[in-house]
Amino acid sequence: MSSSVIQLECQCNNYPWGKKGSSSLAAKYAAATPGGHFKLDESKEYAEQWMGTYPTTPSLVLASGEDLQKHINANKGKLIGKPILNKFGVDLPFLPKILSIAKALPLQIHPDKELAAKLHKGDPEKFGDANHKPEIAVALGKFEVFVGWKALPEIQQLFTNIPILKSHLTTSSQTHFNGEALKQVVGKILSASDDEIVEVYDTLKNTPTKDFGKQTYIPELLPRLAEQYDTSDPGNLVALLTMNYMVLQKGDAIYVPADGIHAYLSGDIVECMARSDNVLNTGFCPRADRDSIELFTAALTFSPKNADEALLKPKDSDKGLKGHTQVLAPPMGEFDMLVTNLKGKETETIKALRGPAILIVTGGKGTLKAEGKEHEVKEGYVFFIGYDTEIELVAESCLETHIAFAEA
Ligand SMILES: [Zn+2]
Repeated sequence: MSSSVIQLECQCNNYPWGKKGSSSLAAKYAAATPGGHFKLDESKEYAEQWMGTYPTTPSLVLASGEDLQKHINANKGKLIGKPILNKFGVDLPFLPKILSIAKALPLQIHPDKELAAKLHKGDPEKFGDANHKPEIAVALGKFEVFVGWKALPEIQQLFTNIPILKSHLTTSSQTHFNGEALKQVVGKILSASDDEIVEVYDTLKNTPTKDFGKQTYIPELLPRLAEQYDTSDPGNLVALLTMNYMVLQKGDAIYVPADGIHAYLSGDIVECMARSDNVLNTGFCPRADRDSIELFTAALTFSPKNADEALLKPKDSDKGLKGHTQVLAPPMGEFDMLVTNLKGKETETIKALRGPAILIVTGGKGTLKAEGKEHEVKEGYVFFIGYDTEIELVAESCLETHIAFAEA
């Protein structure tokens, strides 16, 4: 009979925005698993470590080298359990990742289910599945992010104080901002020529700081963003003029709904999303890599519509029987995430979950006890935990885990 606690070997991708070599937490975590195949190359960028069963970057059962999804398929009743099998089928419904971000990710949205189905049908090569991809991002340290829209009065203020924004980026009929007008402005920025973008960029650079009101981060970030891509990249203007810029600290989290605009800027995070890899990119990437502006702006949702709305606040969870566990519960059915923090010799019991889980050790070391067995746990180790399996975590001096799980 197979075990319900399975240590995984997980792989990293090499997007150019990732941190280099061992400065990448994603790479460090991939290298931490003993006996795995991962070889860290100091000259490469490591962007994302994927944990789960999405077919492009699947996790392996460490002990056997078997593909995790194959192993689950052969033991689905035991590992996934009936409630989630009935709701989502045998494929793991969620996909956790570790991201190590050195510079801005492409400005992006993930299509909702309806659009994803259409895109997947038309171009299955590029859009590899028909699912939506709402996601959460949890900071493991300082994390800079552009997410959702600024409060409308903040945008209005910029467009009132800085004449070129009104003359170049709005239509003549626009007198005040609402969600629809904002989408039009974004469409206008994205479809502007390189020269027009550079003209607005240069004007902003020479605008006195006081004209930005309280948004003094805009003049500070302008040169930094332009250095990462180019002064002609429309992402600079969309992000700085219309989106929330947030600096999160360890433990803070955000929720990005399907069709929600976002661009992560720097830091190390745990990310978790519905099982999908669909994305539409329009900025912070070369022109050739940008998707259709019409598609992008048509899909855009006017949510979250201020910084507060983007935040996902942790709540105390009754899944941890000793009170060391909080839960991040985004408004979606595919997963919640438990965050457990132990100090000294503390222990926590996570009660049996009614579905599959993936546990990532994000700090310290200790022991995981389950099914009468003990497993060593260390920062960077990743485990699949099967349906209806109670586990006990014992810290050696400190221990932190993030557990993504689904319950129906
Ligand atoms: Zn994303």
